[in-house]
Amino acid sequence: MLNIIIFGPPGAGKGTQSEFIKDRYNLTYISTGQILREEMAAETEIGLKVKEIISSGGLASDEIVLSIIENRVTNNLNSNGFLFDGFPRTVRQAEMLDKLFSDNKLSISTVLSLEVPEDILVERMLERGKTSGRADDNIDSIRHRFVEYDNKTKPVLDFYQDKNILKPINGVGSIEDIFNNICNTIDSI
Ligand code: AMP
Repeated sequence: MLNIIIFGPPGAGKGTQSEFIKDRYNLTYISTGQILREEMAAETEIGLKVKEIISSGGLASDEIVLSIIENRVTNNLNSNGFLFDGFPRTVRQAEMLDKLFSDNKLSISTVLSLEVPEDILVERMLERGKTSGRADDNIDSIRHRFVEYDNKTKPVLDFYQDKNILKPINGVGSIEDIFNNICNTIDSI
C-alpha cells in the first residue's frame, strides 16, 4: 500500500496537487477540510459544531477529526493506499494516526511537505477567496489560520522528520512542475 500525507501551510497547493496524485496512484483521498465543508453544507451535527471555528480560521477539535479519519480508513482497507490532505494538523492527530495505522498493520510511506513563502500564500488565498465561496478565505481568517499553523501544525513536521519520512517539495512554480517533482519523489521511495 502507498500511504501518503501531503503537508503544508494553508494555501500551499495541497488540494490542487492531491487531485493529480490520487488519480496517478489510484489512492483513496481523504481531505479533512473538504469533508468538514461537506458536513457544514449538509448542516449535520458535526457540521453545525465546527462551523464557527472553521469560518474564523481555527482548527476543529481532534476528536471530531479523528472520528472522521477512523471511519474512512477502516472502510477502505482494501484500497491501493491513502492520500491524506490537511491531516494530521496536530501532534496528537499524528500520534493517533500512528496508532490507527499500526492497529491495522499499515505504515506511512512518505510525508510530502510543500514549501511556499508566506507572502505568496496570502496572495493565493485572497485570489482563491474571490471564487471559492469559502468562509475562511478572507484576510482575518487567513491570519488566524497561519497562527494556528505555526502553533499547532508545524510541530507535526518534527514528528515525521524524526521518523525520516519527511520529503520537502518546492511549492512555488507551475502546477505541472510541482507535480513532476512530487512524482519523482514518490517513485524514488
Ligand atoms: P483545509 O481545506 O485543509 O484548508 O481546511 C480548512 C479548515 O478545516 C481548517 O482551517 C480547519 O478549520 C479545518 N480542518 C481541516 N482539517 C483539519 C484537521 N486535520 N484538524 C483540525 N481542523 C481541520
